[in-house]
Amino acid sequence: MDFELSETQRLIRDTARQYAKDVVAPRARQTDREHRFPADLYKQMGELGLLGVNVPEALGGAAAGAVSYSLAMMEIAAACASTSVGMAVTNMCAELITQFGTDEQKDRHVRRLVSGEAVAGAFALSEPHAGSDPGAGKTTAVKDGSRWILNGTKQWITSGAYAGVIVVWARTSNDGNKGLSCFIVEGGTPGLTAGKPEEKMGLRGSNTVSLTFESCAVPEGNLLGKLGDGFKLAMTALDGGRIGIASQACGVGRAAIEASVRYAKERKAFGQPIGDFQALRFMLADMQTQLSAAELLAWRAAAMKDQKRPFTREASMAKLFASEMSNRLCDRAVQIHGGYGYIDEFPVERYLRDARVQTIYEGTSEIQRVVIAREVLKAAG
Ligand SMILES: Cc1cc2nc3c(=O)[nH]c(=O)nc-3n(C[C@H](O)[C@H](O)[C@H](O)COP(=O)(O)OP(=O)(O)OC[C@H]3O[C@@H](n4cnc5c(N)ncnc54)[C@H](O)[C@@H]3O)c2cc1C
Repeated sequence: MDFELSETQRLIRDTARQYAKDVVAPRARQTDREHRFPADLYKQMGELGLLGVNVPEALGGAAAGAVSYSLAMMEIAAACASTSVGMAVTNMCAELITQFGTDEQKDRHVRRLVSGEAVAGAFALSEPHAGSDPGAGKTTAVKDGSRWILNGTKQWITSGAYAGVIVVWARTSNDGNKGLSCFIVEGGTPGLTAGKPEEKMGLRGSNTVSLTFESCAVPEGNLLGKLGDGFKLAMTALDGGRIGIASQACGVGRAAIEASVRYAKERKAFGQPIGDFQALRFMLADMQTQLSAAELLAWRAAAMKDQKRPFTREASMAKLFASEMSNRLCDRAVQIHGGYGYIDEFPVERYLRDARVQTIYEGTSEIQRVVIAREVLKAAG
């Protein structure tokens, strides 16, 4: 067991940290207040290797592995959770096409994703009536000569209105989960329209829209993976995606601690810094301990992914623990700030709003427990 980072991991973390400090953090408050999708950052993130951290160099990626990806996510999320979720989904789409795509698909789509040329990637699995249960999806894809015709509506799609490359799940037969297939749809394809952006409690700089497909035709070569393998592809992508959201949660949690420590040293009550009260010290001690535990879970899942070992259970445990942890920490951070924690002059109210969705997307906490329990029982034979 080695807790030291490799040179590559340190380089990626430091690059992301510097970029987060210089560019992402200074605009995070405006991004949130004005619900402004930071489209202009994607080219820059692409140039820094942050959109394809775990994608081979031959496809334009940084080839730095899943632990590096987790480290980079933590840094960007600590500065701006909205920016980090778009980064996460773009990495997820690039990795999925790298793993399951044909040479032509990789060449065309992965390069555009990791360079930021496509702006962002979008992952269109959820539907208005089917989130936790994607096998109940109703969007269809019907073969018509050399094209697939897609019809249906996807819901909650991160970066959906901006994404140049969208991975879409659609039903190609009525055979339950085996009837799902996966397609690549380029942004701007006729028949594809984005709904009005959702007014969200947090992550307001992230674009969340419904996507409607009305006789939307894509070439037959846009089927990703094998016909009927869509469910398998979704589960594979979500395993990796959960490391991303666990890392996002750790980044936001860390930012909440850093803000709390700054405030606890400056703010005085009863003639002394509030950080001298044992009540607050114990809060900070618990916060730091929970954060460190979550980071270790995220990095272990990522290390197992890098070692090409099964990591489904570890990714779900990391996502479950880290997302619940960041909600607790952000709530405590608001408490430490007193009344100032409740107004947007200090960042902790934003952290709390941003953290809230982490126990919901990429599989709710309840679904993580379903996955973890299944793996625990399976391992017991
Ligand atoms: C801001 C945001 C961004 C998102 N981005 C994307 C995206 O880019 N792409 C995408 O495809 N989706 C995205 N989602 C959708 C997200 O993944 C779903 O909201 C989530 O999976 C939950 O699905 P649901 O909302 O339909 O809730 P439901 O599935 O209806 O769940 C409602 C409640 O029932 C519980 N529940 C459901 N099934 C079970 C069960 N078997 N056991 C125990 N409890 C259960 C849930 O845990 C939850 O508490 C996003 C959502 C949000 C809010």
